[in-house]
Amino acid sequence: MKALVFNGVGKIAFEDRPKPEVQDPSDAIIKLTRTTICGSDLHIIQGHVPTVDPGRVIGHEGVGVVESIGKDVKKFKIGDRVLIACITSCATCSFCKQGKFGLCNSSTGGWRLGHTHDGTQAEYVRILHADASLHAVPKGADERSMLVLSDIIPTGLEVGVLRGGVTPGCSVAIIGAGPVGLAALLTAQLYSPGIIVMIDKDEGRLKVAKRMGATHTVNPDSAKNGLKAATKEHHGEIDGFDVVIEAVGVPATFAACQDLVGKGGAIANVGVHGAKVDLRLEELWARGIQITMSLVNTSTLPMLIKLFEAGKLNTKEMITHDFKFSEILEAYDTFGKASETGALKVNIVM
Ligand code: NAD
Ligand code: ZN
Repeated sequence: MKALVFNGVGKIAFEDRPKPEVQDPSDAIIKLTRTTICGSDLHIIQGHVPTVDPGRVIGHEGVGVVESIGKDVKKFKIGDRVLIACITSCATCSFCKQGKFGLCNSSTGGWRLGHTHDGTQAEYVRILHADASLHAVPKGADERSMLVLSDIIPTGLEVGVLRGGVTPGCSVAIIGAGPVGLAALLTAQLYSPGIIVMIDKDEGRLKVAKRMGATHTVNPDSAKNGLKAATKEHHGEIDGFDVVIEAVGVPATFAACQDLVGKGGAIANVGVHGAKVDLRLEELWARGIQITMSLVNTSTLPMLIKLFEAGKLNTKEMITHDFKFSEILEAYDTFGKASETGALKVNIVM
């Protein structure tokens, strides 16, 4: 089969690899019909994720068809169409039993796909603990739009919106209007906040954010007196936002979260930080600020798939480009130059 392989820092190749086979009774082999690229894949290629060995097939998102199953797989049969969750759940450890799949204690659970096990940028992928880590695709679903449910939609919801505690009428600021920030924007609206201010340096992405429901947008580069002054009129009488969601992952944006959060508010950090950040505990404690962070669990997928099926989760605009699998290197190029190409998520069809 063909697969996209990480061959060490800065090197990826579209190569021939052996087709995976069922090894454990709970495995399923999925024939991918679509896959996509995530910012984390770029981090892997840049060498920021040292736990990924050269030779690894990367990718942790995708939709496909069940090709074969181990004898313990009960929920799926050959030919079923499935969405692959980016996180694998053993379903039996103490963390998985609480829905904290991202913290799975098993050496075969948590973030495994395209990390410590071969991933989804391939014609076939072996899914461990298939019953707990795959989800049925509803009949007639628009699978192109559904692709974003593997990772970024549950990430925006679980790590941003739910951890931040978005409630009806509250004020929300989201820093970063990339795919993950936009996923937080989309899912925040399920909880009817009064105000959602999207903050990004990319005007193209701010325009998308406006179309996807942001009440206001702010570009920090045009905020001459700083972000705090630029957003002051948006959060009413308190001294900042009720919820600030960080969806970038650099020290400057975590600092901005601390500037923008209001008394009694919450900072939900979604971004993956590669460098040390400053935490101004000495200022924040007396203002009663809550700070949260987490890897996505994908435990909200059953609910999100129902919403998607009901037409209440409009993810269509998040897919900006389409490629054939044989064009995946070109897809990487387009995705990697997002500010020039306007790419959000790419749809790669097998
Ligand atoms: P992205 O790079 O596509 O988007 C980041 C956005 O931030 C860009 O639009 C960029 O213009 C903007 N930006 C950069 N610096 C800025 C600044 N100083 N002020 C305002 N905006 C700025 O990334 P993404 O794919 O949307 O992912 C966002 C973050 O979420 C990444 O750190 C990613 O690793 C992380 N992530 C976390 C989880 C999790 O489970 N916690 C899961 C997936 C992704
Ligand atoms: Zn587990």
